[in-house]
Amino acid sequence: MKAAAPAPRAAGVSKSKSQPKPESRLAMIRRARRINRELAEVYPYAHPELDFRNPFELLVATVLSAQTTDLRVNQTTPALFAAYPTPEDMAAAVPEELEEIIRPTGFFRAKAKSLLGLSQALRDDFGGEVPGRMEDLVKLPGVGRKTANVVLGNAFGVPGITVDTHFGRLVRRFKWTEQEDPEKVEAEICAIFPKSEWTMLSHRVVFHGRRICHARRPACGACPIAPLCPAYGEGETDPEKAKKLLKYEKGGQPGQRLSPPPDYPGLPAAPLGARTEP
Ligand code: SF4
Repeated sequence: MKAAAPAPRAAGVSKSKSQPKPESRLAMIRRARRINRELAEVYPYAHPELDFRNPFELLVATVLSAQTTDLRVNQTTPALFAAYPTPEDMAAAVPEELEEIIRPTGFFRAKAKSLLGLSQALRDDFGGEVPGRMEDLVKLPGVGRKTANVVLGNAFGVPGITVDTHFGRLVRRFKWTEQEDPEKVEAEICAIFPKSEWTMLSHRVVFHGRRICHARRPACGACPIAPLCPAYGEGETDPEKAKKLLKYEKGGQPGQRLSPPPDYPGLPAAPLGARTEP
């Protein structure tokens, strides 16, 4: 990672005038694209943090990831996919048995209902295959735009912006948007970047949110994009203290995937119940 920048001038503020000038839309777009390029250098290995081997597994893992961590989902899905490897198998599951397996992810009754419903819909309406179109995906039980974008972007190569809690927080800190509603955020960010960047931009921003730009205490003093960020100073600016706040591979700790891609520089996560589990 690049060295943290010294206390930077707030992004989007005029250098020479005493009165700060509002940033023009063009300047904001240029700054946004620079941030994306910088994040691409910081996280060249950015990827979805759910373990999956096919579109069905990604769809199921994404549904399970609501209100819990990707780590907890990744620790739960090996047993789930061993028991129910296909939509047909899952559609025929005994609800109580399915609930018991996914219990560690929380909200397990509602999630089991969604998994049974979407597996049955895949079996009955889509020939046992996950459809590769937004309009079909959002009709599946428990599947909204966010889940559909994750599946389209990462299992079908269809570009999409995924607005989760990290993405929304960071793009508002970056002043790329002021919207709170995920669909409005998605539309505004799509308008700033070329389509070809949408999926990887989503991963880079989420990686940054999980590792450096945390919700409660962002590590501003160890942040490589600090000179481009209007929210610099919202978190810890002392470089030494900030360094201690870094997480996952940036903090020398395991990542969230039990089976990370080969270029991931961090350690794989431990299975459920292993001694290193947080
Ligand atoms: S860590 Fe601080 S400087 Fe870096 S992106 Fe977040 S708010 Fe901005």
